[in-house]
Amino acid sequence: MIFHIPWIYVPVRNVLAIWHQLTKYEIPELKKPSVIMRDRGRVEEIIRNMHGAGPGALQVISDFDMTLTRFAFNGKRCPTSHNILDNSSLISEDCKAKLANFPKSHYYPIEIDSSLSVEDKVPHMVEWWTQAHDLLVQQRIKKDQLAKAVRESDAMLRDGYEVFFGSLKDHSIPLLIFSAGLGDILEEVIEHNGVFHPNVRVFSNYMEFDKNGLLCSFKGQLIHTFNKREGALLNPDQFEQLQDRPNILLLGDSMGDLTMADGVQNVQNILRIGYLNDKVEERRDAYVGSYDIVLEKDETLDIPNAILRYITEGK
Ligand SMILES: [Mg+2]
Repeated sequence: MIFHIPWIYVPVRNVLAIWHQLTKYEIPELKKPSVIMRDRGRVEEIIRNMHGAGPGALQVISDFDMTLTRFAFNGKRCPTSHNILDNSSLISEDCKAKLANFPKSHYYPIEIDSSLSVEDKVPHMVEWWTQAHDLLVQQRIKKDQLAKAVRESDAMLRDGYEVFFGSLKDHSIPLLIFSAGLGDILEEVIEHNGVFHPNVRVFSNYMEFDKNGLLCSFKGQLIHTFNKREGALLNPDQFEQLQDRPNILLLGDSMGDLTMADGVQNVQNILRIGYLNDKVEERRDAYVGSYDIVLEKDETLDIPNAILRYITEGK
């Protein structure tokens, strides 16, 4: 009836056209059952903005362990970059026992306890990382044995990693990996899988070797789960070059990963994708409240790949 009144018809038609544009599904993968979104409309708006600005305006900031790597395979937990070394033949049985028992029982519950504030957690994280690194230094690990430890480990990048790393390379999109793990090991994992392309930069804990190639200390400031944002602040030159990339796709699996992009200036659009791998029931609300897209027990890079495909495809 109202369509017979011309001055109402035009605005209504426009509203309908815009509504149709906003709700039509350009990324069918977002219907996957593992995907939870607090505000689907907002997610679609961010992705559309990123598509409009194109791949030249995009950078990807990602965590490594349990974000780019699988959490589990065939029901068995996959190792983090620390675990790869801890479980390897480069570490004595005595040291393995110390590394395995003590952090799991004491520090990991603190790390993932959603009732504790970040400020409360930080001193425990520093203590955990410092003790683990001190133990590793005592093991006189040789630099040239690291690749072998990675080869013999069960570490796996998530399904779809070739497409993920490949499309970022093809479109010259920088991939910045912020990791509280071991930089030397995770670089080896990426290298071993043949995807360490020139657009990949890693900020992590790096080992210092003496003139005999033995691990003697760790370089620079310790990076733990909750101070990754400082990685950007400590590397202003790297981030200066990325000033003209105001759109950020952020990938993480811990609440600490949410602040990884805080050091980036002039952000226009940021889409945070969080892998919820473990303690799903207890943590779902916190993740859905903080990440734009939550991927529950999803071992693939399907969603980041679908979003990247949409952003990088021509208009
Ligand atoms: Mg992680």
